[in-house]
Amino acid sequence: MQPNTEPAMVIVGAGHVGGRAALALREAGWTGEIVLIGSESALPYERPPLSKGVLTGAQTLAQTAILTPEACDAARITHWTGTVTAIHPMARSVSLSDGRSLSYKSLLLATGGHARVLAIPGADHAAVQALRTQADAIALAPRLKAGAHVVLVGGGFIGLEVAASARAMGCRVTLLEGAPRLMGRAVPASVADRVLALHRRHGVDVRLGIVPRAFEATDGVALRIHLTDGEPLLADVVVVGIGIEPATELARGAGLRIERGIVVDRRLATSAAGVYAAGDVAEFPSPLSGLPIRQETWHNAETQARVAALNMLGGDESYRSSAWFWSDQYDWQLQVSGEPALGVTAVQRPLGDVDAELNLYLNADGRIVGVSGCGPTSVVAKELKLARTLVERGVHASAEQLADPAVKLKSLLTA
Ligand code: FAD
Ligand code: NAP
Repeated sequence: MQPNTEPAMVIVGAGHVGGRAALALREAGWTGEIVLIGSESALPYERPPLSKGVLTGAQTLAQTAILTPEACDAARITHWTGTVTAIHPMARSVSLSDGRSLSYKSLLLATGGHARVLAIPGADHAAVQALRTQADAIALAPRLKAGAHVVLVGGGFIGLEVAASARAMGCRVTLLEGAPRLMGRAVPASVADRVLALHRRHGVDVRLGIVPRAFEATDGVALRIHLTDGEPLLADVVVVGIGIEPATELARGAGLRIERGIVVDRRLATSAAGVYAAGDVAEFPSPLSGLPIRQETWHNAETQARVAALNMLGGDESYRSSAWFWSDQYDWQLQVSGEPALGVTAVQRPLGDVDAELNLYLNADGRIVGVSGCGPTSVVAKELKLARTLVERGVHASAEQLADPAVKLKSLLTA
């Protein structure tokens, strides 16, 4: 048999998108080579458990795997550990820092994002770390000892989920957020307020409007944190969760169009022929509004990987999935689906006498375009799931119907 000399399908970034796209290429019938190149030595894995079950011991790293060595063999996926330093769209090739290069038939940029670093004195101290990778979680887990003082910088998802995990491990926890509220613009203020109260009830010392000014090594093992307001803190470990910067450097170097991420069209194609981008790094047209958006979520990675793979093979798939994310903290769940910002009317749906809320957002046509909610998982999970399905199906409803607990959400699905 003649060897297959056709250039490979190449994926840069062996993370969530990279792993799922490699599998999807094979499942869609590509018989040639698939090369998955990633800077991390681990095979692709899911990141959500890193701030939750992996820290509390409820989940093992093995349970987070997207690809195992056996699955790579079975699907004939070649995994290279290495960092791509340049892409050459005219020559259709990529170069790695170790001198290797590779030609591609189609290329997927699935480079995710880099954790933002704090630009203050002492931020390079060994007790200060980010949480983005398996290696970060492996470093952090043993530091969450009962009685240890854990300080979280950033009241976003990393900060809040690590706070909950650290409390479960018996740590003392302080969370510093520079803004006057938690979770920036990701959720409405009412949800942020409930989550703030939840953490305070669980014993987390949440301080809003305060950020660290400097970290200072002490004679002992603890680290002294000088704050913009109040007495310095002594911490055993500091986790910085102040967002990510999309990893656009390769695309920028190759002259691809960049805005808040690598700009792609409805097919997830970039401005260079044969080059696609997906996941945290890609700015794509919202399926709801057509406006450019970027998502940093599990669901976005999961669903874009498949669409990108099909289009790398010459398909004409549009990315249509509506946005969705969840966050687990203690026994609570928080979810946002669709795009609440597109709503002109916000309706709070009564959930009975429980500390929980569910908000639905209607656009000017009366279409449900977004949902946000939080509360004990056992109370809100079912309603949130139904509400998400209403968004996905583009259901129309009136504010009166949504605000009336006698009108079941399920009935709107079948109406
Ligand atoms: P990534 O998974 O980050 O993968 C990118 C990969 O590309 C990395 O391995 C990187 O090393 C590699 N790379 C970058 N540049 C190069 C290069 N030049 N050469 C080679 N390799 C390169 N989302 C939710 O919806 N719910 C959750 O509960 C949730 N929890 C999370 C918890 C944590 C701790 C984290 C970090 C994220 C969480 N997310 C959650 C977000 C979700 O995991 C991400 O949106 C998703 O991982 C994005 O996938 P990606 O493939 O775009 O990027
Ligand atoms: P994030 O959710 O974007 O939150 C970052 C928080 O830090 C925001 O509240 C931000 O406030 C604040 N901040 C920004 N600069 C700061 C500074 N210099 N000092 C103090 N606070 C600052 O990011 P993250 O929590 O670091 O998470 C990293 C990535 O992992 C994101 O992509 C996130 O979506 C993902 N992740 C998701 C989940 C989930 O969906 N459940 C869980 C964990 C991680 P402003 O918004 O006001 O700037």
